[in-house]
Amino acid sequence: MRPATALIDLQALRHNYRLARSRHGGRALAVVKANAYGHGAVRCAHALAAEADGFAVAFLDEALELRAAGITQPIVLLEGVFDAAELAQAEQYALWPVVHHAAQVEMIEQAQLTRPLDVWLKVNSGMNRAGFVGDAVGAAWQRLRDSGKVGEITLMTHFARADEPQVIATADQLADFDAATRDLPGPRSLANSAAVLGWPDAHRDWARPGILLYGADPMPDEGNGLQPVMTLESAVIAVRELAAGAPLGYGARFMAQRPSRIGLVAMGYADGYPRSAPDGTPVAVDGRPSRLVGRVSMDMLTVDLTDLPEAGIGSRVELWGRQVPVNRVAAAAGTIAYELLCNVKRVKVDYLG
Ligand SMILES: *Cc1c(COP(=O)(O)O)cnc(C)c1O
Repeated sequence: MRPATALIDLQALRHNYRLARSRHGGRALAVVKANAYGHGAVRCAHALAAEADGFAVAFLDEALELRAAGITQPIVLLEGVFDAAELAQAEQYALWPVVHHAAQVEMIEQAQLTRPLDVWLKVNSGMNRAGFVGDAVGAAWQRLRDSGKVGEITLMTHFARADEPQVIATADQLADFDAATRDLPGPRSLANSAAVLGWPDAHRDWARPGILLYGADPMPDEGNGLQPVMTLESAVIAVRELAAGAPLGYGARFMAQRPSRIGLVAMGYADGYPRSAPDGTPVAVDGRPSRLVGRVSMDMLTVDLTDLPEAGIGSRVELWGRQVPVNRVAAAAGTIAYELLCNVKRVKVDYLG
């Protein structure tokens, strides 16, 4: 069987959730959108079900998958609903839609609901992507109240730069949020992972940690004691000796500078390993540091075994995980851990714990 595997450590997931909850205080939604950032939404939600206060997904179908799997906690729909039929399903399945633009307020005003719907009203405090600004926040809140169709209204906002501790933008967003919501009652939810870890002033009633649950620390110091949840690994399936000056792989991007031993690994960009990874991107072979050499192909990639004479066919290759932080691979490939984790596909997925 092809050895390409994503190992998912559910004990590490629980550790990270507990860490988020205790750092933030109050309640924490486990953000499991995009198939739990590539880790398997149903398995991750079940692993957290005994302790999570709630879950968050992007849209209705992601929530219905969790309900079908027996998840009974609150589930927030971060993009809200797209039409009246979805609103009816949100009611039926006790989902909590975000309301972030006027058409969603109108949908609620015109809905035929049999019980009050709990909603999260999104304030645009400076990210300028979604949500109501300034006086429009109070006006939307009042329309929701007057509709007679909503129960609790939780006030939320989202930060654009919480992963930059030296930058004033997050403090500005906090001040804008507090000003826009000063006269409004109800619980508050401000903190994504970076704000849970780096912005205590943003800790209110509900945290919304995503990436930190999966063990990729979003803060520059990465000193928060998170445990990596996914190990993406495969094995060496062939070994080849290259003479100095010989080219390797598509485009001959890598040329051997010295007589080299190259390991061929069953993992490629169709599995989610980034094609943009340059020569020198870290990997671990049987626990020892090594590097990617040559362009990543659809199904295979190549690593340098020249300094690892014991390594050979069958050697285990970690692409990211406990030995190779996914943040290092992301930085080398010019992207972020979020994108790498979400993109994992086609590989076998094994769960531990
Ligand atoms: C995805 C998302 C989160 C989680 O963000 P992380 O950076 O992964 O912690 C929180 N809130 C909203 C609104 C989101 O869309």
